Amino acid sequence: MAQSISTIKLTHQIRHRAYNLKALEKNNIVEYVLGKGDFGFTVVTAGDECRRRQQQRLYIIIIFTSTQKTKARTTTMSGEVIQCKAAVAREAGKPLVIEEVEVAPPQKMEVRLKILFTSLCHTDVYFWEAKGQNPLFPRILGHEAGGIVESVGEGVTELKPGDKVLPVFTGECGECRHCKSEDSNMCDLLRINTDRGVMINDGKTRFSKDGQPIYHFLGTSTFSEYTVVHSGCVAKINPNAPLDKVCVLSCGISTGMGATLNVAKPKKGMSVAIFGLGAVGLAAAEGARIAGASRIIGIDLNASRANEAKKFGVSEFVNPKDHDKPIQEVIAAMTDGGVDRSVECTGNVKAMISAFECVHDGWGVAVLVGVPNKDDEFKTLPINFLNERTLKGTFFGNYKPRTDIPGVVEKYMKKELEVEKFITHHVGFSEINKAFDYMLKGESLRCIIRMDA
Ligand code: NAD
Ligand code: ZN
Ligand code: ZN
Repeated sequence: MAQSISTIKLTHQIRHRAYNLKALEKNNIVEYVLGKGDFGFTVVTAGDECRRRQQQRLYIIIIFTSTQKTKARTTTMSGEVIQCKAAVAREAGKPLVIEEVEVAPPQKMEVRLKILFTSLCHTDVYFWEAKGQNPLFPRILGHEAGGIVESVGEGVTELKPGDKVLPVFTGECGECRHCKSEDSNMCDLLRINTDRGVMINDGKTRFSKDGQPIYHFLGTSTFSEYTVVHSGCVAKINPNAPLDKVCVLSCGISTGMGATLNVAKPKKGMSVAIFGLGAVGLAAAEGARIAGASRIIGIDLNASRANEAKKFGVSEFVNPKDHDKPIQEVIAAMTDGGVDRSVECTGNVKAMISAFECVHDGWGVAVLVGVPNKDDEFKTLPINFLNERTLKGTFFGNYKPRTDIPGVVEKYMKKELEVEKFITHHVGFSEINKAFDYMLKGESLRCIIRMDA
């Protein structure tokens, strides 16, 4: 919220109750009111409305019933169209434009979220550049974020207004063969679909401006103050979790860590090569460290990643630019024939091939995580497979978003997982294009975008 919360006054309290206005003044009303459930949500919505109308005061009448239940006599926006700010990608590679858009109410099995923090992942950049991907514009990008449920559509029973959530780009319907399988997170209904720009319920968008549709991205479109998401793509998390930190668990960090821990599964003492030391790759390195890898070899074309990577347990750094021969040969020479595991987090198909060819024969496993261009082809000699190397790939580190992500957030809450070191930059929503610059220049790991600034 741009407006300081101190201008929002709680008055007319029927039955006296002390409210800690200091906590509200921290300009963090959402954190403060969350514990108060629906009431908190109402204040948030009303506060926003107040700001929009540029009102200086908001009067909320609180009625405490004899059973101590709290009711606030203000209206929610549930069922109504919300007007809010969104960063719209109108053309490939052109700066996003902050615009007032309309966000329709959630339909069957959908929820409308108020996004509080979002961050930029390289997948957003690919679809914004649309060089190796299908162009679809105008579109609201963004898929790594944290927010609060504003309202729910018909049939939604597991989420309610006020719940603290992480939207996830791949969903979990809970019913299909994939959702019922322990091995897969590729839900039949809600698996990642990069080319779909509409909601699956009716094939339409929930975003519009002047009656013209604006397309969704990955079913999440978090570069908007409000967004509509299928309820199966929403992980309900600990209400005390700080969204400005755990938002990075809704894509990059969980993806990288899960790729190592859930898919590559190195045994203690094994060697692991990580290709690409952005946030996803460094999270994969973190996974290798947790698994007890003896050597973690980081490979990146960006020399400045070498120092940063040490904080994530990367014990050796290799820059392909420093070598004349293929990088898989360099790694094989360093490791007596190849690494035990490799995880590719670059999105570059040549690096994908190197990641496969650098694993040891007999037992080596390579895992692809980077998103390739749509026409990329992976070429290698079949003998590499016959020699008992394994190639795998994963979305979202094989985590099931609703089942597993609350537990990943708990790991952070118990200090078993650090996310702060992945967060290198912060910008306000109005400066969202800076986050793109930082990533394109290779300066940032994760840049947190604060929606109310
Ligand atoms: P990033 O841009 O922060 O990091 C990528 C790193 O790879 C950079 O440091 C870059 O210098 C390096 N790199 C690029 N080409 C290379 C090459 N040929 N050899 C060595 N290093 C190279 O991006 P990120 O946000 O960490 O994302 C990494 C990749 O993971 C992207 O392709 C992204 O789309 C993908 N991704 C996949 C999933 C999934 O579920 N599979 C989820 C999130 C992100
Ligand atoms: Zn992502
Ligand atoms: Zn499913």
